[in-house]
Amino acid sequence: MRDDIWAVLAGVPDPEIPVISVVELGIVRAVTDAAVVVTPTYSGCPASLAISRDIRKALDKAGFLDVAIKTELAPAWTTDWISDAGRAKLLAYGIAPPGTAACPQCGSLATEEISRFGSTPCKALWRCTACREPFDRFKCI
Ligand SMILES: [Zn+2]
Repeated sequence: MRDDIWAVLAGVPDPEIPVISVVELGIVRAVTDAAVVVTPTYSGCPASLAISRDIRKALDKAGFLDVAIKTELAPAWTTDWISDAGRAKLLAYGIAPPGTAACPQCGSLATEEISRFGSTPCKALWRCTACREPFDRFKCI
């Protein structure tokens, strides 16, 4: 049954970055027969509410009406929890993998932060000085 729940969760996309699932993002910390334990990426992130709502919907649809969603704030989510598959997808999506500020377009490390506020409250806007392309970078650490 837990495997079935994991499979349902693997089909729930992150509301901000639909190419990556909530499992790949690393916010699902544990699954028991009674509950799904979730740690939001960032307390100020409006996507956190949407994620819980989407997980609820997916569980209900799959018949897991009795499975609760528990939110745990400690330990805090870090970008280290993003799976390798998730990192590869972020890169393909044009978002710099957390922990680096390499340009997703050309791979150059000659990058600079332009703004603390990118396309969403969770991302900062960076620019590559080699190819001059701007890109989003996670700042929710
Ligand atoms: Zn570049």
